[in-house]
Amino acid sequence: MAATIIDGKAVAADIRRETALRAAALLRDKGVVPGLGVILVGDDPASLSYVTGKEKACAENGLASFERRLPATATEAELLSIVGEYNRDPRIHGVLVQLPLPRHINEAAVIAAISPEKDVDGFTPINVGRMVLGEDCYLPCTPAGVIELIRRTGVPTQGARAVVVGRSNIVGKPLMNLLLRREINATVTVCHTGTRDLASFTREADILVACAGKAGLISGDMVKSGACVIDVGVNRIEDKSAKSGHRLKGDVDFESAREVAGFITPVPGGVGPMTITMLLVNTVEAACRAAGYGA
Ligand code: NAP
Repeated sequence: MAATIIDGKAVAADIRRETALRAAALLRDKGVVPGLGVILVGDDPASLSYVTGKEKACAENGLASFERRLPATATEAELLSIVGEYNRDPRIHGVLVQLPLPRHINEAAVIAAISPEKDVDGFTPINVGRMVLGEDCYLPCTPAGVIELIRRTGVPTQGARAVVVGRSNIVGKPLMNLLLRREINATVTVCHTGTRDLASFTREADILVACAGKAGLISGDMVKSGACVIDVGVNRIEDKSAKSGHRLKGDVDFESAREVAGFITPVPGGVGPMTITMLLVNTVEAACRAAGYGA
């Protein structure tokens, strides 16, 4: 039987409604509008489109957004100075530096300069450390979105075998940590380019998360029957028949995997909508904390 398709747009819409209600309550009770401060360096079209999407989502859900754009030639000092301004600005509860940054800017130094209380992307060393220690922190948005999709779909996780394909700092490693948490309690294996016989691992997975950035890496014969398959990959494939000249494809070969899996996320429309949603969740949470407003 073909897998149940996990509708990331629908799950994201539910969470956005909840988040908008929380933002409205914060405004009503404390007079505070949650604010996201965005910094964009350069004119990369993909980054610009991500930033526009984030600002639109803010506006639709009762959050304010503030934007500063710097040319690609901006210095690290200029960027750090804006991060400092945002850190001090009481209207801004979440600071987001759109990545990647131009090569001459030290990304790690810029991220580390964001106040941990406003680090709604969960990328600062302090938040990463807290996440690894299982302490209260802002979780990185894409991994948090994956966990929320699994949780809200009702996929059993206690004692499940989870395999994560990819070990990046922003997706694979945080996912490994979150899947290990006691409330999820999966037994986690992380695969990467040094993994020998990838399929021998993926075939054992009750929960398989693909975050390698390789189109179609996971085919149906690499999936365990009934598994929950979460496809984080977003790969642009040239397609002359498409208006844009390309189409998006995940790391999973959807057509063959859906015949074997129990649950599967599509690309687009799976993990993608969850990432911005979790950013809104984190920003409203940061605003509530700053205002001393209960959960
Ligand atoms: P990344 O930094 O390039 O990391 C990719 C990881 O996959 C690396 O650890 C790499 O292993 C591993 N890998 C690559 N090819 C592999 C293979 N053939 N077999 C096994 N492992 C392999 O990428 P990322 O930033 O984590 O992003 C991963 C994907 O998720 C991308 O397609 C990206 O566009 C997408 N993404 C989507 C969202 C969203 O909102 N939906 C958000 C973030 C990222 P090594 O460490 O050995 O090199």
